Amino acid sequence: MSLYRLIYMSAAADYIDWDDLKDILTKSEKNNAELDVTGMLVLSDNKFLQVLEGPADNLNHLYAKILQDARHQNSQLLSYTPIHRRLFSAWAMKGVNLAFMKPELKEFLVKKYGASGTGIAIPKDEFLAFSVLYDIYHLNQA
Ligand code: FAD
Repeated sequence: MSLYRLIYMSAAADYIDWDDLKDILTKSEKNNAELDVTGMLVLSDNKFLQVLEGPADNLNHLYAKILQDARHQNSQLLSYTPIHRRLFSAWAMKGVNLAFMKPELKEFLVKKYGASGTGIAIPKDEFLAFSVLYDIYHLNQA
């Protein structure tokens, strides 16, 4: 079965709070494991950046569901590409809130990608967005 990687960004709805995020992550871990999907969800200031990897049909189904979720808006698909292996395979869904990241790690990201509000600027370029996610993924495993 062919694997794909999907990356999108969106803006959190005004009312989203820590309990909403926990709810999203708990559901995601369960649902994604059932769909053979792995990935990571980053919250930077009020922006989401998410990477999802898995079989195309499952990814399409999941992304269609995520797009309907009123807890975020203005979703922009940044990348949807076939892959021969997963690069974000450690978790069914890992949540990373930059507000709680170690200051020295956040400083590294801010220097590299620029600041926005209390987080980093999320690039719309697909390769830079991938780079942000790849850096955060490895910083969280170190
Ligand atoms: P239920 O939890 O029963 O939800 C049914 C419906 O209610 C869904 O349409 C859901 O969108 C909506 N809903 C539930 N709670 C709320 C709430 N508090 N406010 C508004 N609407 C609500 N889900 C995943 O499975 N995997 C992911 O990787 C994933 N990533 C996400 C990333 C972001 C940025 C956001 C905002 C949501 C994400 N979700 C993800 C959640 C997804 O949108 C659905 O809410 C979830 O998959 C529904 O789970 P369920 O099918 O068990 O239905």
